[in-house]
Amino acid sequence: MKNRRTTPGSNATTCPYCGVGCGVLAKPDAVQGDLGHPANNGRLCVKGSALHETVTGHDRLLAPRVAGHTVEWSEAIDRVAEAIRVSVRDHGPESVAFYLSGQLLTEDYYIANKLAKGFIGTPHVDTNSRLCMSSAVAAHKRAFGEDCVPGCYEDLELADLLVLAGSNAAWTHPVLYQRIKASHRPGRKVVAIDPRQTATTEMADLHLQLRPGTDTLLFNGLLVWLHDHGALATQYLEQHCNGFEETLSVARACAPSILAVARGCDLRAADVERFYRWFAETDRTVTAFSQGINQSVAGTDKANAIINCHLATGRVGRPGASPFSLTGQPNAMGGREVGGLANTLAAHMDYDTPGAVQRVADFWHSEKLAAGPGYKAVDLFEAVHRGDIRVLWVMGTNPAVSLPDNARVREALARCETLIVSDCVAQTDTTAFADILLPAAGWGEKDGTVTNSERCISRQRRFLPVPEGVRPDWRIIRDIAQALGYGHAFDYQEPAEIFREHAALSGYGNGGERVFDISALAKLSSTEYDRLQPVQWPLTGGNPGAWLQTRRLFSDGRFPTPDGRARLVPVSNLPPGQQPDARHPLIVNTGRIRDQWHTMTRTALAPRLFAHRSEPFIEVHPKDIATFGLIEGALATLTGHARKGFTGRVRASPAQRPGEVFVPIHWNRQFASSALASDLIAPVVDPISGQPEAKFGVASLRPLITRWQARLMLPAAGGTALDARSLDYWSHQALPHSRSWWLAGRRSMDWREWAQQIFAREPELVMQDSARRRFRAAWLTGNRLDGVLLVEPCVQTTPDLGWLDDCFGSENLTPEQRRSLLAAGSIDAEPTGPLVCSCFQVGERQINQAIEDGAASVEALGQRLQCGSNCGSCIPEIRGLLAKSADREPA
Ligand code: SF4
Repeated sequence: MKNRRTTPGSNATTCPYCGVGCGVLAKPDAVQGDLGHPANNGRLCVKGSALHETVTGHDRLLAPRVAGHTVEWSEAIDRVAEAIRVSVRDHGPESVAFYLSGQLLTEDYYIANKLAKGFIGTPHVDTNSRLCMSSAVAAHKRAFGEDCVPGCYEDLELADLLVLAGSNAAWTHPVLYQRIKASHRPGRKVVAIDPRQTATTEMADLHLQLRPGTDTLLFNGLLVWLHDHGALATQYLEQHCNGFEETLSVARACAPSILAVARGCDLRAADVERFYRWFAETDRTVTAFSQGINQSVAGTDKANAIINCHLATGRVGRPGASPFSLTGQPNAMGGREVGGLANTLAAHMDYDTPGAVQRVADFWHSEKLAAGPGYKAVDLFEAVHRGDIRVLWVMGTNPAVSLPDNARVREALARCETLIVSDCVAQTDTTAFADILLPAAGWGEKDGTVTNSERCISRQRRFLPVPEGVRPDWRIIRDIAQALGYGHAFDYQEPAEIFREHAALSGYGNGGERVFDISALAKLSSTEYDRLQPVQWPLTGGNPGAWLQTRRLFSDGRFPTPDGRARLVPVSNLPPGQQPDARHPLIVNTGRIRDQWHTMTRTALAPRLFAHRSEPFIEVHPKDIATFGLIEGALATLTGHARKGFTGRVRASPAQRPGEVFVPIHWNRQFASSALASDLIAPVVDPISGQPEAKFGVASLRPLITRWQARLMLPAAGGTALDARSLDYWSHQALPHSRSWWLAGRRSMDWREWAQQIFAREPELVMQDSARRRFRAAWLTGNRLDGVLLVEPCVQTTPDLGWLDDCFGSENLTPEQRRSLLAAGSIDAEPTGPLVCSCFQVGERQINQAIEDGAASVEALGQRLQCGSNCGSCIPEIRGLLAKSADREPA
């Protein structure tokens, strides 16, 4: 880690989104990247840059609620404690479970884990990180003996060959992608392994667009090829590894030849061979892998197939040479440190780590420590469904959206005897089921630490006042622990005390057998904790500023296994849990988009983050558009085995393989009528890690034939609400001055009557053309706009809304604005179209116009409009527009 100092000041904090863990200098009304933070050196992506726009009070949960009624904190705490006490008394400690989140801070995570496992005595503590990287955790443990990422971000820059497996880093880890791009140099190669073309594959010298689920085959083939071409580090294998012969033998049975690999992965043999040759030739090789590898029924095996190749070439923990797991969430790594996964105990100790149960019980002075592993996420919610778990406490996450087969998860939540939810947002798909709601502090109001993908611990610092009635998570957990009678062990007054204890436990009884050791931080004073600079674990040494940080692990070939040797793990290519058939002919892939985060509870508050993709969508290969009778830009519905539909706008995308579609994971019932990606994925899990499949579902696809499509706009602030549940399709979008809904339906409507329910009066301006199925109306109070409804026979004729949104921002419309309302300002508007380049706010129509005017390349467009000239993550879309334009050219 570079010896930089994070810019001093209490507003130096950490971005709460992805696992890159960027440093942010934050004020209530502005953010900027922290030049002193080693993860980002001042950079921020579009989500990070919009953070200050998301710290509004909109839909905040500001007081505890029990059975829907606002109550005092004292009553809420008593009710939670009573529910836990009664459940433990009548049904045993295992009738209680906690479901945590990679969004929690390490201090929150630590005491939640301590309370559940150490004092209530239940092992059933799992986290949404199970859905993110638990396969990488399991693979690290199998290979290295401990869950450790051997490398650091700098390795991705130093590598002469960078292999990106199952990672669209340009959208999911944008700042790291920018670092990779900035470090590009002649001779350096990038290989992308992904079934889709993405913004990331755009920079690849070689894109292996493999058949989904065949990554193990590809890497097993690599191991065999390396062996057969004398490219293995035989001395390293002999001195530092076990299991090579068996692993090679299994790999050979699975992937005997390049042709077998090419056939199985549906790749060109020449491309497979090129990848293998580059890997063999390039000592400085990093393979970075992410959710495309982890979120699979065979995620652990896939990760081990990758690690096997790195061990076999001795490329682990060396500068520019390592396997590297890219973590999804901001503090998934912190959760792993404290033992927040159900199969772990605490401080990188498992239940079967020799002496660990007694050691942790001694440290916590606990007499009823859970004795063995608990339920992993999918099994945990099944246990809730069965009634075995009666009290469930969900903290800072939204399982009603994110877990597979969420119809069953919703049933489980509805059945749960006492569902407690701590959240900062009042209305989520999960809070809708809560018996007890506890208002938690949000980002900006919290103090603590997080650990990013490269083991770097950073402070998250409070820069906003905690609203009246709201408490930070650590304090909520402490208060309930005290109400349960465990005050002696939960007497914390501030996060720094919790952190010191967590740091001390990491070194407790640790004679060097556990790599995770930050005990050097156990004596930090509260002031030193406040000033803590980013530090990378493990740490040794005693004085602040003089710690020895560890950038790379295992560089000496010694591993935290009983014999100090790493393990190659024999892995076969396990097929996905489902296969397409005549009824469900398409493979469904799911993932994140560039400008939204998880279930949108935060990013949906920033209007500009909707500008890139304003509706749920389905990306379909052009061939399949024809096969399934779809129209680009119209609506269609995917239906999976669970018979639940995902309705979204069709986007023609040659980036897909034919027969495969892609849907985003973000939309849920707060933002759209029917767009839950998890409805399309069966609840199958990796047998080792318990991580659910998320990248391989099967579905049918049909157009949603509508008679009309509409946009409804209401002021951003105001009491008028919309109940769109009776409509066939709706999705919600925030604009700077208004709230807006896309609407569509199959049956004719009496629009005046329908609007009457919303506005309780006739519109001030109306334009109706029944023959052409058009209806436009505006509601005004004086010269202030109260609402606009624009109904058209199809969406392509719906006008641009930017001008109208500006009208909502005006307290006093001009006569000209008023006259133009029903024309949606077409007189004055300069619509840019859907946003393509977030960095410079350049829209599709501007780009098309520039192409028409002669800009014939990405570079030329960049010179004219600046689009694509900063982070570059929009370049594939720009290329798509150029290609479309070329297709339109007359022959
Ligand atoms: S790259 Fe990740 S951590 Fe950095 S600003 Fe963007 S979302 Fe935040």
